[in-house]
Amino acid sequence: MAPKNKKTNILNLKGEDKRLVGRLWRDYIRPFRRRLYLAFFFMVVLAAATAAYGFLVKYIIDVANNLDGNVIATDAGVQAKRFALTVVPVVVALTIISGGSMFIQSILANSVALNTIGNLQKTMFASIHRADFARFGREPTGTLISRFTNDVTILTGAMLRTMTNLVRDVLTVIFGIVVMLKLDWQMSLLVLIVYPIAAWPIINISKKMRGNAKNAQEQIGVITSQLGESFSGARMVRTYGLEDYENKRLGASFNERVRLYLKLVTNQARVDPILEVLGGVAIAGVFALGVYRVVGGQTTAGDIAGLLTMLLVMSPRIRALGTLNNAVQEGLAALHRVFNVIDEVPTITEARDAALLADVKGALEFDNVSFAYEDGTQAISELSFKVKPGETIALVGPSGGGKSTIINLIARLYDVNAGSISIDGTDIKNVTLMSLRNSMALVSQDITLFDDTVAANIGFGRQGASAEDIEVAAKAAAAHDFILDLADGYQTRVGEGGGKLSGGQRQRIALARAILRDAPILLLDEATSALDAQSEAKVQTALYSLTKGRTVFVIAHRLSTVKNADRILVLDDGQIIESGTHAALMKKDGLYSKLRALQFS
Ligand code: ADP
Repeated sequence: MAPKNKKTNILNLKGEDKRLVGRLWRDYIRPFRRRLYLAFFFMVVLAAATAAYGFLVKYIIDVANNLDGNVIATDAGVQAKRFALTVVPVVVALTIISGGSMFIQSILANSVALNTIGNLQKTMFASIHRADFARFGREPTGTLISRFTNDVTILTGAMLRTMTNLVRDVLTVIFGIVVMLKLDWQMSLLVLIVYPIAAWPIINISKKMRGNAKNAQEQIGVITSQLGESFSGARMVRTYGLEDYENKRLGASFNERVRLYLKLVTNQARVDPILEVLGGVAIAGVFALGVYRVVGGQTTAGDIAGLLTMLLVMSPRIRALGTLNNAVQEGLAALHRVFNVIDEVPTITEARDAALLADVKGALEFDNVSFAYEDGTQAISELSFKVKPGETIALVGPSGGGKSTIINLIARLYDVNAGSISIDGTDIKNVTLMSLRNSMALVSQDITLFDDTVAANIGFGRQGASAEDIEVAAKAAAAHDFILDLADGYQTRVGEGGGKLSGGQRQRIALARAILRDAPILLLDEATSALDAQSEAKVQTALYSLTKGRTVFVIAHRLSTVKNADRILVLDDGQIIESGTHAALMKKDGLYSKLRALQFS
């Protein structure tokens, strides 16, 4: 407890910041405390060795001074030899000690900072995937990514600086002052009075820099987002000739970055010259006064030389301490952003006594369900329907009708605002999220393939699936043959987002994944895009083997799927307008038959 308070006081932390740093210490740094203490030990050694230079210089100068003239030649030779024999090993030993400690403390401190931040990154990442799905819509992905890239870099830097500045540099300065006072306390006091005057303008500049830094950091998030958008939309950019537009858009952001960083470095640049000039004034003062005092016999040339050495050694340390506060503030701001992500409380949670959803038959019921998105868009209104195990339900209707929302609600990506959804008679809120989602497979229009092998991409469907299982699934999805034709068969990497495969191939891999999952409930957001007739026929075969014996919800675009569905729900404005088989609905001459007519006119 005590060391923490001391530390936080030095940094002048208050309230929330103090709490965050305390938490960082308890949960993330403490596991590495042994390494940290060892780093501190070597920092102490380093500081002591650095301070010892002052004494060493004094000794050398004074002895060398006395060698000259005062003694007879032969004596001088003997003395010089003895002198060299003692001084040289001491100098070498001192530099070895200081060099060695420098190396060890640097490795240890870096290892503590990197490991700490690495764990923070892992926690943050896990937290994002535990949070509500809706959070992805709340913030641009780039901003989220910059938590992992930019903020993490800032935090690592701030941690390193805090550790080394607070221990190594503070100690170097303290030891240095002690050495200076020992050498010539009157002159040292004079110097020590001049230096703190520098603090005043620097504190002012620091405040400005904090604001500058915050703006610059936020700007990085914006740029990351825009770059992500621009690159993932490269195809659109090329074909629509949007290069100029994009150049202008990103160009403006890059310009803004230049402006913000120039502001920051201008303020930063002010700090060093102030300290430089002050150092110069101090050194000049020591010189001027020193000459007087040496002549008057109050001090020796060695004392003056020792004093100047200490000033030179200490000034970069003092400079670092002068800007430490900014690094700390930047680090704290980053820490705030990181902990904000970590602390996000998911609203879609499972009850403590949530049951396992097991042996699912696939009966599903919507009972008076209403749902609105966070922005207030009412997507589903008082919707009720029942589905028997093994039924295939086609969701049809104008876009924006609520088809995707129904699928999102079944998977509990969002929670209903009113009413309930149950599977086999159990409210889906009363079962564990894992068992709920294990009971279903989603095949969506935007097929997600990771940059991994074909086998791995199919294997995501079920953890621990064997190579044979994967092959069986691929055969059922009519994917086996084309996979064998790939350069490395099942071990071929698919490229980012499956870029090395055709649309139809990607879709069949996604279907194989769902077949492997072997879940009783299937959620299909049927894709029509990018399929030639041949692929379409193959996908159709795959779909057939996938849907057999399962409860299926399909957002249907293909006439064949709709025709074969056991029941069609026609949705408009979040409500069921019509329901029935294809034949029944065609006869009815309502919205469904109109949509059909439109599609085939
Ligand atoms: P469909 O799948 O039938 O095209 P959706 O279920 O996607 O329709 O959308 C239903 C309504 O909810 C639409 O008005 C749509 O604009 C809105 N909506 C869909 N997703 C979101 C979202 N993430 N945030 C806000 N509104 C949304």
